[in-house]
Amino acid sequence: MQNSCSQVWNYCLDVIKEQIPEQSFSTWFSPITPMKLEGEVLTIQVPSQFFYEWLEEHYVNVLKHAITQALGPNGKLEYSVIVDTGSNLSAPYTVNLPNTNGGAVKQADKRQMKDYKGPFQLSSVSQDFLDSQLCAKYNFDTFIEGDCNRLARSAGHAVAKKPGVTSFNPLMVYGGVGLGKTHLAHAIGNEIKQNLPEKFVLYVSSEKFINQFISAVQNNEVQDFINFYLQVDILIIDDVQFFAGKEKTQEIFFHIFNHLHQSGKQIIMTSDCPPRDLKGLEERLLSRFKWGLTADLQQPDFETRIAIIRTKMEADGIDIPEDVVEYLAYSVDTNVRELEGVMISLIAQSSLNRKEVDLELAKQTLQNIVHDIETEVGIDYIQKTVSEYYKLNTEELKAKTRKKEIVIARQIAMYFSKEYTNHSLKSIGYHFGGRDHSTVIHAVQSVNDMIDTNTNFRNSIEDLKRKLKMRVAV
Ligand code: ADP
Ligand code: MG
Repeated sequence: MQNSCSQVWNYCLDVIKEQIPEQSFSTWFSPITPMKLEGEVLTIQVPSQFFYEWLEEHYVNVLKHAITQALGPNGKLEYSVIVDTGSNLSAPYTVNLPNTNGGAVKQADKRQMKDYKGPFQLSSVSQDFLDSQLCAKYNFDTFIEGDCNRLARSAGHAVAKKPGVTSFNPLMVYGGVGLGKTHLAHAIGNEIKQNLPEKFVLYVSSEKFINQFISAVQNNEVQDFINFYLQVDILIIDDVQFFAGKEKTQEIFFHIFNHLHQSGKQIIMTSDCPPRDLKGLEERLLSRFKWGLTADLQQPDFETRIAIIRTKMEADGIDIPEDVVEYLAYSVDTNVRELEGVMISLIAQSSLNRKEVDLELAKQTLQNIVHDIETEVGIDYIQKTVSEYYKLNTEELKAKTRKKEIVIARQIAMYFSKEYTNHSLKSIGYHFGGRDHSTVIHAVQSVNDMIDTNTNFRNSIEDLKRKLKMRVAV
């Protein structure tokens, strides 16, 4: 019987449809076009190399089964991959991919990149319209160098000079909150854009990437999403720790990562901890994070803090006496964001009260905003802050109730009491309606577990920490 190529493919599609979810079917199989049938070899055309890789990795058995059903045990499948012409700079490339069914992939027609609907709501991806999402004020000039950031800064600089060419690919910058990860990431991006304006640099936070992916899935636009990211020359992705536990996003990112990396595109990532401590991330993704260079940002030392204060004040046109600079640098040693917060308050105090910035004003301001946690925060204050945060009554934290949201708030308040006060476990239990010390131990453990596994929860804890630390005067 003489089967036409599309008849065979339609038959395959019917078989495949039975076996996979509708969503996956429309994402990965609808875009395929049957090309030709020669004997027992069916050739299908797929939109990109990425697409081919994805099919081979995820649907090889489904495809094999369908081909066998349609063409018998000797049936073979070949792919024809549409190859885009790349950027203006690089010549079009051809692919010759092996395939698990023993067929070869034929070189397909070359064609210009089509106008994808990018996740950043671009009407077109022609170079003129590409927005890098970079913030101009975060550049290398404003990023003060110190021992705490020297390695990361110079690696960033090297990458910015020769993106994709150095062995720092990917470049992974990690460090605690407020230590300059986002600033440095933007600085690298801005520098590249300045030196190599034809490159498509893209900055994206991991949260944004996750949300874009979710909505692409919902709107059946996963292909557009992927195609958009595959065109990026320099991908800067901030706070990858938020990928934890998001398996589908990790999977898509893994493929985008591989594809960009293989094509010599630069990837820059930031994270709040070193790759080895990133929990909830797939091993294969983590192993790739370690391919290039991992550089950390540490808490700024005294001299760097002085330099940062001077530079920022100068940039704002504010004259500030040397003893005040030193006083601030000495008093706020946690991170740069807090240091900036204090400077802003100081400037605000000075202009509100029409007072010169002097040591006395600095001391007053600082007393009003920063309270030393060890000595100043008591269980009462923790209970008040946590119950306000969760819109509960403080008494409920001490009551017998086992309502889930109250139990969690109570555990969090116990956790902070253990972290931030010198009370014994027994005493903490006493302050929470006379509970015993094992309840407190259990609370601390539960909170730690949830911090490790639940991003929203971890964010709430970070919020609360900030609230507990910064008490703004009335
Ligand atoms: P992170 O992303 O690590 O939480 P950010 O990059 O947002 O931290 O930095 C917090 C603030 O501190 C930003 O306003 C940033 O400009 C500033 N900052 C951090 N490091 C430096 C530095 N080395 N020099 C100047 N400003 C810095
Ligand atoms: Mg950041």
